[in-house]
Amino acid sequence: MNIPQSSNPRFVIIGGGFGGIALAKKLRDKEAQVVLLDKHNYHNFQPLLYQVSTGGLEPDSIAYPIRKVLQGYPNFYFRLANVVEIDTVKKKVFTNIGEINYDYLIVATGSQTNFFGNKGIESMGMAMKTIPQSLNLRSLILENFEQALLTDDLHARDALMNFVIVGGGPTGVELAGALAEIKKGILPKDYPDLDTRRAQINLIQAGDRLLPAMSEVASRKAERFLEGLGVNVWKNIRVSDYDGLHVTTDTDVSFDAATLVWAAGVSAVSIKGLDAKEFMCRGNRLKVNQFHQVEGFKEIFAIGDVAQMESEDFPNGHPMMAQPAIQQGRSLGDNLVRLLDEKPMKPFVYRDKGSMATVGRNKAVVDLPKFKFQGVFAWFVWMFVHLYFLIGFRNRVVVFINWVYNYVRFDREARLIIRPFKKQNQVERNKLMQD
Ligand SMILES: Cc1cc2nc3c(=O)[nH]c(=O)nc-3n(C[C@H](O)[C@H](O)[C@H](O)COP(=O)(O)OP(=O)(O)OC[C@H]3O[C@@H](n4cnc5c(N)ncnc54)[C@H](O)[C@@H]3O)c2cc1C
Repeated sequence: MNIPQSSNPRFVIIGGGFGGIALAKKLRDKEAQVVLLDKHNYHNFQPLLYQVSTGGLEPDSIAYPIRKVLQGYPNFYFRLANVVEIDTVKKKVFTNIGEINYDYLIVATGSQTNFFGNKGIESMGMAMKTIPQSLNLRSLILENFEQALLTDDLHARDALMNFVIVGGGPTGVELAGALAEIKKGILPKDYPDLDTRRAQINLIQAGDRLLPAMSEVASRKAERFLEGLGVNVWKNIRVSDYDGLHVTTDTDVSFDAATLVWAAGVSAVSIKGLDAKEFMCRGNRLKVNQFHQVEGFKEIFAIGDVAQMESEDFPNGHPMMAQPAIQQGRSLGDNLVRLLDEKPMKPFVYRDKGSMATVGRNKAVVDLPKFKFQGVFAWFVWMFVHLYFLIGFRNRVVVFINWVYNYVRFDREARLIIRPFKKQNQVERNKLMQD
């Protein structure tokens, strides 16, 4: 990898996501050599992926070069590398560009879409976890409408315009709201010769309420907002299969839709060599102690989506969200500095800052630890928080200008088929996208 040996201890961080970057920032100017490995050369702001998929934002505005984050950091090395294996005995990491030793290893590889072994859905449904996947979804949606114009078969035309979104968490809710806005404000103008009113947006939730991780009132309001936008909300239904057109469920309800988006589950990204049963929990997360040390190792740590720290308040670990990843990255950074100074590490305490989801143009639901509110004010809070956490001044400005423009003009001008997408067996494609 062409990284010099150093007299200082070497920290190898796998993953430049929310957790990895927060950690790296803490290690600036410390007596250590830091090597950050990521298979992408950019940080991906996943909370706004759905806006890329629906033409509201260009992908560049939610991505940020990792090298730019690390600019001016002495003793830092970034390598664009896909980590494939870890040898915990020889303390080595193997990647597609070579191998590297570590003194301390930090795993911050995040999570990936979990299809729960359903090959039909995996091969024909769309995931939305990476920027390339979001661009594929954007192309597919637009191509389907172009295709709908060409057919006289009413049933086929309807199916090309229909959407099924599986999963009523924040991703499903936000995507459904954005699609409903497009249906109302953009499609009739773009496709005057299509009866786009017939397009159906179906949001399917296996449980009995949307946004199950949020308060009851947030769930109720989100459902009401979506129904007001014309989204069909289906609860207590599980999608069981999909052949690219026909969606079957565990009830007698079924749908014909050329677009199915799977937002119903994620599992941690595990790496060979650190994937034995004894330190893995549900969803492939690595079991860590209160200092983020992976069970059985003093020198291997895990943070973010990939880590499961069980406590009385969080018996299944912290939520797989950006805030826990950032807080864990910062806490581990402080602890690694303490380790260098030969001081005892401090246990991690998660401070819940709340959660939120937006539903269409000017509505959102916000649960803060002390207050819960919904509607227009919540929407402003949602926008402010997302702008604040976006990395990079340019990205903040571009996203803000786009939002103002889209709001005032009722428009989403990034509805471009830059990279045509042909739906085919997605299993291999999704694997490549994750890689
Ligand atoms: C569509 C969507 C919407 C979301 N919305 C919200 C939201 O509104 N609010 C919220 O709090 N959270 C949201 N989340 C969840 C949030 O994005 C994650 O919880 C957060 O990104 C986790 O941070 P992390 O650092 O653990 O992993 P990530 O940010 O995912 O970073 C992992 C990094 O590891 C790299 N990597 C993985 N495997 C390897 C490998 N083998 N070799 C090299 N590099 C590797 C990846 O390229 C990536 O850069 C959303 C997620 C998605 C998908």
